[in-house]
Amino acid sequence: MAKVYDVIIIGSGPSGYTAAIYAARANLSVLMFQGYQVGGQLMLTSDVENYPGFEEGILGPPMMEKFEMQARRFGTEMIPEDVSAVDFSERPFKVTADSGEYAARTIIISTGASAKWLSLPSEERLQGRGVSACATCDGFFFRNKDVVVVGGGDTALEEATFLTRYANHVTLVHRRDTLRASKIMQDRAFKNPKISFIWDTEVVEVLGDNAVTGLRLRNVKNGEEYILPTQGLFLAIGHEPNTGLFKGVIDMDEKGYITPVEYTMTNIPGVFAAGDVTDHRYRQAVTAAGDGCRAAIDLERWLESLGEDVGVENWD
Ligand code: NAP
Repeated sequence: MAKVYDVIIIGSGPSGYTAAIYAARANLSVLMFQGYQVGGQLMLTSDVENYPGFEEGILGPPMMEKFEMQARRFGTEMIPEDVSAVDFSERPFKVTADSGEYAARTIIISTGASAKWLSLPSEERLQGRGVSACATCDGFFFRNKDVVVVGGGDTALEEATFLTRYANHVTLVHRRDTLRASKIMQDRAFKNPKISFIWDTEVVEVLGDNAVTGLRLRNVKNGEEYILPTQGLFLAIGHEPNTGLFKGVIDMDEKGYITPVEYTMTNIPGVFAAGDVTDHRYRQAVTAAGDGCRAAIDLERWLESLGEDVGVENWD
């Protein structure tokens, strides 16, 4: 016999925690799988200055602790494990993690997305110390500095253009000699005197002990390596939604982002999705939090429409 929760939330970023706060305050029994990397992408961010309510800004990790404490205050149970399997074939839905199998009447998928990284040890070591994957989050800290953006898509050009508001100079390093980005974004970037381009080149090492001081670059055509001094490295080589677990079960677009069919409800009635796992456009903490609120309200109304009593009960 095991509990059947009113909702199991998979993922502990701003959308998951906000959904938990709303659902728990609506007297639903809530279990959250936080994942082994509790807190999501904000745990990799330094200062967050664009989340309303923190007029002095706040570091990403303590911000997520506050989200967590608020969700716990209203009774959310939390398990800091990854979900390894789901069975959405019938209700109650089943979710498997290292500690066992759990059941719920509804599910919120808020597993987020992950920025793609170059997978260099030096890049990982200097994350949050000059290496970033979010110009909107961190650009402000590079006022009058020289920075490098890696990538050749719309995001890279958008980030490079955005960074020219703060940076002294932005160098875009791309592994080919043509950009993938839309023509209009290319034109804008080519016209910007603060942006220059290094073609056919990849980053092989990020230099610096406690802060980025430069990059070791390699020309992929002739193999030549050299050092480019810089104080910041922004990766803009794409994001990947964390949806591998739901492939073939939940409707997604060709890039793997979940495509809800009715407000935040997915193609499986009772399974909802919120946050970056559905969003490749905005990807902000505040938009993800808003989405979590919507999902919790949607599922509460959905349970009401079924006329089901809520609260933990037994199931075998
Ligand atoms: P993207 O279009 O997939 O571009 C990723 C870029 O990163 C490509 O230029 C790729 O190089 C490069 N790259 C990938 N892996 C790399 C690696 N390991 N090392 C070095 N370079 C690497 O991703 P995106 O720019 O994030 O755009 C995603 C989607 O959002 C697109 O559909 C885009 O149009 C859209 N978007 C639109 C806007 C807008 O309209 N304002 C803004 C942002 C994004 P290659 O070119 O050699 O493959």
